[in-house]
Amino acid sequence: MLPVDPTPLARREVRELENYNAGLSSEQVGKRFGVSKIAKLGSNENPYGPSSKVAAAISNAIIDSGLYPDAYCELLRDALAERVGVAPEQLVFGNGSEDLIAILCRVFLDHGDTLVTVTPAFGLHTLYPQSLGAHIRPVPMLEGGHFDIDGLLESLIEPPCMLMFSSPSNPVGSALSASQLEQLLAVLTPATLLVFDEAYYEYAQGSLDYPDVLAQLSQQQTPWIVLRTFSKAYALAGLRVGYGIVSSPAIADLIDRLRTPFNVNRLAQVAALAALQDEAHLKAGLETTLRERERVNKTLNEMQLTVVPSLTNFLFFKTDQASETLHEALLSHGVIVKPWREPGYRHWVRVSIGSREQNDQFLTALSVALQNSSPVAQELDTH
Ligand SMILES: *Cc1c(COP(=O)(O)O)cnc(C)c1O
Repeated sequence: MLPVDPTPLARREVRELENYNAGLSSEQVGKRFGVSKIAKLGSNENPYGPSSKVAAAISNAIIDSGLYPDAYCELLRDALAERVGVAPEQLVFGNGSEDLIAILCRVFLDHGDTLVTVTPAFGLHTLYPQSLGAHIRPVPMLEGGHFDIDGLLESLIEPPCMLMFSSPSNPVGSALSASQLEQLLAVLTPATLLVFDEAYYEYAQGSLDYPDVLAQLSQQQTPWIVLRTFSKAYALAGLRVGYGIVSSPAIADLIDRLRTPFNVNRLAQVAALAALQDEAHLKAGLETTLRERERVNKTLNEMQLTVVPSLTNFLFFKTDQASETLHEALLSHGVIVKPWREPGYRHWVRVSIGSREQNDQFLTALSVALQNSSPVAQELDTH
């Protein structure tokens, strides 16, 4: 006897949502394709892992696992406030920054409210607003992966409740320039909360054309929050710590009303603190990743592929193949990437910059996959 389908009980907004595309795990790919060596390059994870100081900090903290964590993240808060150069009250913490995205949507977006975002978008920037019945006003990126600043300015004429996007962009890799950000800030009104997702901040901040977003925002009267994370450059994705820097403690206060009080667990707090304190480890990982990014980018260019210059730990590129088809071909070589599915981007793939060995595995697999699909090869296949 089949159990009764509970779907009609769910809210309409939830029934209409698509599932978040979290990608395949290494275990799933290994099993399905019978490959042992997997290059997991679909989730922008850090191939070098966290500082060894993180392991020590976690070991020491395990003994206290029976106690609830500090709901205020005080030690981490104080250290981070000093590092970022803001008051401790200007920080909020989440179970990953995605937790903060969800909370912000629940605090600020009502049914029928409008959210402006840039597309292609990080999935959760549209999924959470949609789940609340908010209306999405998308501003597509321009050809070549540039932000459409005129489009953005136009989208703000009728002020939305929230303007949320990532810069550097996930999945595109490019960022708003200082002057574009200045134009944007000039037209924002107090009716709009700006959510500036800076998940790839550490990778971008050494680059000459990357603006000091926080410095520009600190001159701004209208409300804003900058989101950052320990998941990427600090390699703590598995422990889930993200944070926000807010324009005023009043925003932190609103967030506190809706977040679960212990949303950053005890081990995650000590891990983030230890990771923050090992600057040499961070720097070494960033340098290697940026060097590898240049190498992979150059090779993709040599393969005549369109690649967007990136300020992040991933590359967004286009091929003649449908992204899903290419993804399947790469999977058979043990390479996981993120095939893009948004309309207009179905020939685009996002690949994370892994270790040198993983990147080589990807480049070799890609070269084989593209060779096999070339018109000449296809013709030969039929004979
Ligand atoms: C990875 C990523 C996040 C999520 O980070 P977590 O802190 O792991 O939740 C948020 N925004 C963007 C744009 C990302 O790419």
